[in-house]
Amino acid sequence: MNEHRSGSTKALDNQYIMHTYGRYDVVLTRGKGVTAYDEDGKAYLDVSSGIGVNSLGYCDEGWVAAVTKQAATMQHMSNYFFSPQASVLAEKLCTLTGMAKVCFGNSGAEANECAIKIARKYSFDKYGADRNEIITLRDSFHGRTVTTLSATGQDVFHNFFFPFTEGFSHVTAGDMQCLEEAVSDKTCAVMLELIQGEGGVNILDKGYVRALFEFCAARDILVIVDEVQTGVGRTGRLFAFEHYGVQPDLVTAAKGLGGGLPIGVCLCSEKLAGVMTPSTHGTTFGANPVVCAGANYVLDTVANEAFLNAVEERGAYLEKLLRALPAVKNVRRMGLMVGIEVDGDAHDIAVKCVENGLLIITAKNLLRMLPPLTITREELANAVSILKSTLKECP
Ligand SMILES: *Cc1c(COP(=O)(O)O)cnc(C)c1O
Repeated sequence: MNEHRSGSTKALDNQYIMHTYGRYDVVLTRGKGVTAYDEDGKAYLDVSSGIGVNSLGYCDEGWVAAVTKQAATMQHMSNYFFSPQASVLAEKLCTLTGMAKVCFGNSGAEANECAIKIARKYSFDKYGADRNEIITLRDSFHGRTVTTLSATGQDVFHNFFFPFTEGFSHVTAGDMQCLEEAVSDKTCAVMLELIQGEGGVNILDKGYVRALFEFCAARDILVIVDEVQTGVGRTGRLFAFEHYGVQPDLVTAAKGLGGGLPIGVCLCSEKLAGVMTPSTHGTTFGANPVVCAGANYVLDTVANEAFLNAVEERGAYLEKLLRALPAVKNVRRMGLMVGIEVDGDAHDIAVKCVENGLLIITAKNLLRMLPPLTITREELANAVSILKSTLKECP
């Protein structure tokens, strides 16, 4: 194995990695709990969890044990064989969500692709080829594949990669009339995030969401809920749809599910359980047993009342601290999914926060926190205190 050459990481990155991300100027090498360390040993409080991925923080002991045990037992088998880790995870996911079946993949975009395929095939089987259109919301984000870019309701994503997948249209979130006007006899599904993460932590109105579900159910239009960011305890319930009192036809999850390993799942209701048949979908790495062992550990930890109530309780505490800062104009929050409206440029502030030892991200012109679900009150107070002094430095 190549030895880690101090100082060379940035040079190698600049020379050999495609620059599809603007990076913060930090080389992260290890982490423990809510703290990450750079190559010089400087500590950073991480309230981003690698964009909501490290749901139990860095290198949680039980999670590491579960993952390393499975890696040393069997690291991969193909989907042509039964896997105990995948079967157990599937049962947990379905039981906990009230869904019937799951399809395993490796990312959020893939999970959404799977949901789109299921929705279209359900409609194809029942109504024929022409009923295939999917309506999504403006300011949504559903992924970076050519099809999930089409699904994403932001024009900035509809560039360069033409031709995009057809059959998607976008309506304004919160506006039932706009949706009713967009629906036609070609509509097979509506796809939405209940809290738009990348779009700026926009929390959808409960009345709107319930009306949307009722309207769609009456027309056999499927509702796909993208919980890639909101799922697995992030909002203080296992899934955000529980806050809304609705039951989706399809739900996707990814980011926080594996605790740091790549997984994406698409769950479907009983009505859709028979839609996908052999060879209609698949992916080589889907249901990988090491990844499933990580996800099993995360669910065993997160899926209980006490843990989920603590997420909301600490989220409320964080919101209170944030609202006391003069530069904070508003806080949009559910559980530990937090958008902070600030005076000034959010990106510039985030860069300064990182320099000051706080790993924070942005969403549109908001600061965004998605801390590990295990973060303590004391760590939250420390994070807000770094943010506070950073905001004072910013004009
Ligand atoms: C991150 C995200 C995706 C894409 O997930 P990837 O794992 O990056 O493909 C899709 N939907 C939502 C809501 C997301 O936040």
